[in-house]
Amino acid sequence: MTTGLVMVITGNGKGKTTSALGMVLRSWGWGQRISVLQFIKNPSSETGERKALNKLEIEIITMGSGFTWIPENAAGDELQSRELWKIAREKLSGGNLDLLVLDEITYTIEKGWIPLDEVLSQLKCRPPSMHVIITGRRAAQSLMEFADSVIEVNQLKHHLARGIKAQPGVEF
Ligand code: ATP
Ligand code: MG
Repeated sequence: MTTGLVMVITGNGKGKTTSALGMVLRSWGWGQRISVLQFIKNPSSETGERKALNKLEIEIITMGSGFTWIPENAAGDELQSRELWKIAREKLSGGNLDLLVLDEITYTIEKGWIPLDEVLSQLKCRPPSMHVIITGRRAAQSLMEFADSVIEVNQLKHHLARGIKAQPGVEF
């Protein structure tokens, strides 16, 4: 019997989403049932992970404007985050997944778009064998307390400081 884990990957360094995707790849290798829900990110921007997961026939749903710091987009982001959270809730209570990834959900919690209490209660009543990976900076304290595993990715150096812009395959 599998023990479902809640894993939080947070911190300012690079490697949160890609770490989650690494586990997705492993899980896929075992023939497990996976869903990746990407909050905040804009579905119209192409990413290597979406291309790859589509090829592997792994479900990935992306909903957001990807520009939350632009005030005009915040209302749209909030709506889309709530819509995606509805899907997440169904998956958490549905019980037919081995792994659910909630990528960048921490921001939607931080902004109060998705109530933290609701996230915690949904996680608590999920099927006991379901793994859930939560990524994003500034994860809420109570979420980290609840999680089985919390990883903080710490940035020592980033190539952006040398003026090197985002590279396909590296950042997206
Ligand atoms: P990755 O998706 O590469 O694992 P991540 O999920 O840890 O990264 P996010 O905060 O989601 O990090 O950022 C997505 C991308 O933005 C990363 O690939 C990263 O290289 C880039 N990034 C992270 N920190 C910075 C920064 N300080 N300045 C500019 N770009 C950054
Ligand atoms: Mg990320």
